[in-house]
Amino acid sequence: MTVNPDLAGGRLTIDLGAIVSNWRLLADRAGAAECAAVVKANAYGCGIEPVVTALSNAGCETFFVAAPQEGIRVKQTMPDVRCFVLNGLFTSAVPIYLAKGLTPILDSLPEIETWVEAAKEQGNPLPCAVHMDSGMTRLGLTLKELESVVSNPGIITNLDVQLLMTHYACADDIGHAQTEQQREVFLSGAALLPGVPRSAANSAAILQQKDHEFELVRPGVAIYGGEALNDTPNPMQQVVKLEGRIVQIRTAKAGDAVGYGGAEVLSRDSRVAYISVGYADGYHRGASQKGVAMRQVAPPAQAAFNRTIINGVGRISMDLCAFDVTDIPETEIAAGDWIELFGDVIHVDDVAKASGTIGYELLTGLGNRYSRIYVGSDG
Ligand SMILES: *Cc1c(COP(=O)(O)O)cnc(C)c1O
Repeated sequence: MTVNPDLAGGRLTIDLGAIVSNWRLLADRAGAAECAAVVKANAYGCGIEPVVTALSNAGCETFFVAAPQEGIRVKQTMPDVRCFVLNGLFTSAVPIYLAKGLTPILDSLPEIETWVEAAKEQGNPLPCAVHMDSGMTRLGLTLKELESVVSNPGIITNLDVQLLMTHYACADDIGHAQTEQQREVFLSGAALLPGVPRSAANSAAILQQKDHEFELVRPGVAIYGGEALNDTPNPMQQVVKLEGRIVQIRTAKAGDAVGYGGAEVLSRDSRVAYISVGYADGYHRGASQKGVAMRQVAPPAQAAFNRTIINGVGRISMDLCAFDVTDIPETEIAAGDWIELFGDVIHVDDVAKASGTIGYELLTGLGNRYSRIYVGSDG
């Protein structure tokens, strides 16, 4: 859905050149391993079609999505790329996988059976990935289940296993013991399928540079500029800028109560800019200046006008939020102007922290009322 920029109260500027640079940096860090790209959740809010086009033109040949409907969009954009689907294989979806050329990641014994049945009907082994649970207790086969699959010729000869993958639970935490334990379990599983390419690393595991690359890496958030590793400077270029438009600037007196709950009582005569973006647009209520439980935990979100940092006022509402522009001269700011909610000056991960969440959730939760501007597409 595209939104007419003349109508939009909020806009997203997405730098495809930065996406490509980030992917190249990760590919470089991954050494000899193939660098795929995770484009689930509408490419972390950035748009599947433009992102797949840019990355495919930059040399990316393998994409991961969560759901088959996302995979269909990947294949429609770039028919020749390989597209793995993470989130399970429902029997009802098999004909679509076959028709669209999607490669399922088999996450359980019943899914393996479903794909083997399809292979028997087609008369040849079908491409797939096998997902191993090495200790996250989410999706995937246990080591025992993998052993049962590999030792059963009626099953394994009907599978064209293109990838054995696992997923780390704690890779964002450098040196976490669970990652090493999961790696050991994964290696035991991989020994059962010699010659099959292996994949374990998400963005964080790649950036750790601790030998998690194997034959293929699966970065997501770092491609989009988000923070993958905790407590470490983020080496990625910023990709997404979110701006909201000023609907009106109100003058108010010291002592006036602003917004829901009267949560903010002004301590001075003020000018308050109302922006046409709220929590229905994915700008979380938890990031409010005042009047939400998060304020006992972390500082509120800030914004920027012409690179000058400004503070919020009161609570973020569904479709509006407010910022204090008292210190910006009246001649320099007016209704219709844009305020950066995150981008070059305000980092998406800082807004996420103010909201009690992570950059991933902010990016994937961006609403559909924004107009979108793509820049740097030949980057
Ligand atoms: C989302 C996901 C990724 C990408 O993770 P990032 O932390 O965004 O790099 C990789 N592998 C699996 C299985 C995933 O679900």
